[in-house]
Amino acid sequence: MNESRRLFIGGAWEAPSGDERLEVISPHTEKPIAAVAAAAPADVDRAVAAARLAQDEGAWPRLDPAERIEAVRRLTELYRPRRREIAQLITSEMGSPISFSKFSQATLPMMVLDAFADIAASFPWEEVRPGVFGQDLLVRRESGGVVAAIVPWNVPLYLVAGKLAPALLAGCSIVVKPAPETPLDSLLFAELIEEAGLPPGIVSILPGDGSVGEALVNHPGVDRVSFTGSTAVGRRIAAACGASLKKVSLELGGKSAAIVLDDADPATVAAGVKVAGLMNNGQACVAQTRILVPAARHDEFLDALAAMVEGLVVGDPEDPATEIGPLVARRQQDRVRSYIEDGGREGARLVVGGTDQPSGVGCGWYVRPTLFADVDNRMKIAREEIFGPVLSVIPYRDDEEAIRIANDSDYGLSGSVWTADGARGLAVARRVRSGSFGINQPYSMDPAAPFGGVKASGIGRELGREGLEAYVDYKAISGAPRTEPAHHAD
Ligand code: NDP
Repeated sequence: MNESRRLFIGGAWEAPSGDERLEVISPHTEKPIAAVAAAAPADVDRAVAAARLAQDEGAWPRLDPAERIEAVRRLTELYRPRRREIAQLITSEMGSPISFSKFSQATLPMMVLDAFADIAASFPWEEVRPGVFGQDLLVRRESGGVVAAIVPWNVPLYLVAGKLAPALLAGCSIVVKPAPETPLDSLLFAELIEEAGLPPGIVSILPGDGSVGEALVNHPGVDRVSFTGSTAVGRRIAAACGASLKKVSLELGGKSAAIVLDDADPATVAAGVKVAGLMNNGQACVAQTRILVPAARHDEFLDALAAMVEGLVVGDPEDPATEIGPLVARRQQDRVRSYIEDGGREGARLVVGGTDQPSGVGCGWYVRPTLFADVDNRMKIAREEIFGPVLSVIPYRDDEEAIRIANDSDYGLSGSVWTADGARGLAVARRVRSGSFGINQPYSMDPAAPFGGVKASGIGRELGREGLEAYVDYKAISGAPRTEPAHHAD
């Protein structure tokens, strides 16, 4: 079993202040695979003090942006050859099928680092604007200070990369708190950060439980908080940031709809929903778990979806053939199974799946891929984020009703439309209230575009140019001498 007794504080490996440890347990075997030092609130003080010092007295926030871009590119190059190892590590920690981990868990974070370095290279760090008083103004984008980044376990390193890369490029220092289920990938990443040779104080990685997250959020030395996770915790964090007037960005839950139009092909829809609704064992904030099908062709689409769900390969996530692995923890298995019970109680028709262990699987936190039909959008299974392999088919009469049902949700994160007519699909896409959308595909998650939600799905945007804007503070200067502004970093 792997053991790690140190914390990465301000760029150096330090002894933790307490002797608490986090055990990482394989969701497939239910056996421990590693133990790591758990941070305590006193370690938060040390990390924030180092981050503060680097901001207030260090060179990092005031470097030419080109030098920070160079540092992120060095990190990317150190990351590149480690992708296979990272994919395996994340699969072992949280149960993503290895076929999913290779790209989404391991390669995508590297693409995020790369994309942000490109965005920073053409970012208007300084611009001159004509003022209405007849005088030009110099508008600067400066470091946003000390960042607390709190991430969940579902796509752990991808989420760290989406916060760490723009924070570093903007000149911030950052303290990352990975989820207790998935500290190992962040600690491996810390080794790469150390190798990349960032100045002291810029990055800390503190595996720990919610108390570490809370200490970070409430710390007076932290300027902004970037959180990804449940809407319930997001609300608490937003309230704490409101009280202390910290800037906050929240990427929270979803209950997205896949709208199947009456001209769509059932086999294409089933193959698309397999990814859109069930990727990462259904543990994705963008999962499209409400499948809206036209009443006139209901049975055709339901049959295709049922055959797809029935045929999913469930089992050992390290097997390349596996499509659905175990959920991250027993509490998630229990939670998802209780939603399946709720669905039956509320009158939805169980077509495939259920609450028993999938056949051929002994131990492990598995849930049978499950499909409900005759779901009413008012049912709990249609309103709440389940975060497991459970799909609900909801019939509708016409396109107007489909759009109304899609929008009748507390959330607004993603969605898709499936149709033989792209223009008709785009017309639907324009009317769904969500932060992202795909036409005949799940939303692509391209790091060049802003990502985030409306309504209870969050506040703010990550990725794209907007994702870098989230880590800068603006400064307007009047009366500046006419010198060439540093428009671009390169
Ligand atoms: P949480 O939102 O509880 O946890 C996410 C992260 O926040 C973890 O690192 C957690 O640490 C930390 N945290 C918890 N409480 C606080 C706090 N008060 N202040 C600061 N940080 C805190 O997610 P769960 O893992 O409990 O999952 C529960 C449900 O949330 C899922 O079933 C799913 O519906 C949803 N979820 C949505 C995600 C998304 O991407 N939209 C991602 C993950 C979950 P700790 O675990 O130690 O409490």
